[in-house]
Amino acid sequence: MTTAFEPVADEILVAGSWKLGGGAATAVIDPATGETLQHVTHATVEDVGTAVAAGAAAAADPAWRDLLPHQRARYLHRIADAVDAAAERLALLQSWNTGKTLTETRALVASAAGTFRYFAAVLETADAELTTPRGPYLTMSLYEPIGVVAAITPWNSPIASDAQKIAPALAAGNAVVLKPAEWTPLVSLALARLIDESGLPPGLLSVLPGKGSVVGDALVRHPGVGKVSFTGGTTTGRALAHVAAEKLMPISLELGGKSPTVVLDDADLDQAVNGVLFGIFSSSGQSCVAGSRLYVDVSRYDEFLDRLVAAARALRIGPGREPGVQVGPLVHHRHRDAVAAHVEAARAEGGRIRCGGTIPDDPRLAAGAYYPPTIIDGLGDDAQVCRSEIFGPVLVALPFDGEDELIARANDSVYGLAAGIWTRDYRRAWRLARRLQAGTVWINTYKQFSISTPFGGVKESGLGVEKGRAGIAAYSRQKSVYLGMDPEPHPWAR
Ligand code: ADP
Repeated sequence: MTTAFEPVADEILVAGSWKLGGGAATAVIDPATGETLQHVTHATVEDVGTAVAAGAAAAADPAWRDLLPHQRARYLHRIADAVDAAAERLALLQSWNTGKTLTETRALVASAAGTFRYFAAVLETADAELTTPRGPYLTMSLYEPIGVVAAITPWNSPIASDAQKIAPALAAGNAVVLKPAEWTPLVSLALARLIDESGLPPGLLSVLPGKGSVVGDALVRHPGVGKVSFTGGTTTGRALAHVAAEKLMPISLELGGKSPTVVLDDADLDQAVNGVLFGIFSSSGQSCVAGSRLYVDVSRYDEFLDRLVAAARALRIGPGREPGVQVGPLVHHRHRDAVAAHVEAARAEGGRIRCGGTIPDDPRLAAGAYYPPTIIDGLGDDAQVCRSEIFGPVLVALPFDGEDELIARANDSVYGLAAGIWTRDYRRAWRLARRLQAGTVWINTYKQFSISTPFGGVKESGLGVEKGRAGIAAYSRQKSVYLGMDPEPHPWAR
């Protein structure tokens, strides 16, 4: 197997045609070395207009609009097969572009194919609803396409987040305009190529790389876009929600998190050490659900922290495409520097750096955007590292004493995306799971994902849910139809 970088063609998919974007040719970086992998041309605001117009026409074309669910499902199956057939190439491409380990990117590619298959199955098995009549009529509730959906995705897991939006949106009968993140356009373009070659009618998918503030902004504001599905930071999400409010347009937002992981005094410590490490340091912490605040029962705190720190120090750092590596570089040097600044702020506030905490001086890693697994303690809940999302391999550890105190502190965050609980006592786990403010709670596991399980955040972590059987409805408009059954004229008009 070769792990050499294979570039993608520098063309973007606009309105069914592959062409050079009208915007600047922009370097895409290998975060493991800082070297340029290739250039990709950005889309322009005119490309946005062209893509949305073509999307609207393609969605309204009877060749797509009038397909029956099982016919539309076939397109999704073909896409899934194409993704599977190209799996290793896609996994490598994503590893080169994002720095993630091949183990992770292989799993993400498999999940992308699974997402297309899942929504094909949901589409075929979805029931129309007949509601109970309360008069001489039959009532039906129908789900219809919105038209053109904008999908805006972040850089951390592109192929999986692209698929999570494209699959249900197409299943619902829409056209999609995808705006991938500026640092990581390659795998989205490769996915678009596969989707295009799988025979999806032209115009139903456009992929427009470019800056969020230019291409993303034009897309969200475009009057022809009827829904936005966004995954990214809370600040951007809030700005997009303002635009959506002006347009009275539905928007779903998967945003940031500062998720608490709780280790109770009766936890299986072997499992908890491994689970906590995976929860924060896999993907180098660049995960919206990263378990970045650790609460450990005060009676086990020292023992647990010693074991955790020793295990974190032993993690293998290196290029994601090298076998055996557990912690790859961060996505970009600029992001690495932002992570390092958070740790410096913690140091200045009096935090104890238990491991990591400085950019590695190993010559093998010097040119890459590396940051080591870092564990900080000795700070209170109000410290900046306990409050802000860092999106890097930085864990802040805090002892707690008693369940009520724990719940109050764990819930004292603007975020509410996920939480983890490690305990042998399922009654306690259940009680805590119900009291924690989070969209997802993992008990004796962490960062497991299933496309059949709805996912979303509460508070400033998001609006709406993705995945699950209801995932298609999120890209639909509901319409009620009354079918009159009364043979007599209406009495009012007599
Ligand atoms: P992150 O912090 O994960 O980079 P962002 O919220 O900045 O998150 O970016 C997520 C996605 O949103 C990216 O594709 C980015 O280009 C896009 N984006 C950023 N700003 C805007 C904006 N003003 N309008 C639309 N999309 C945007």
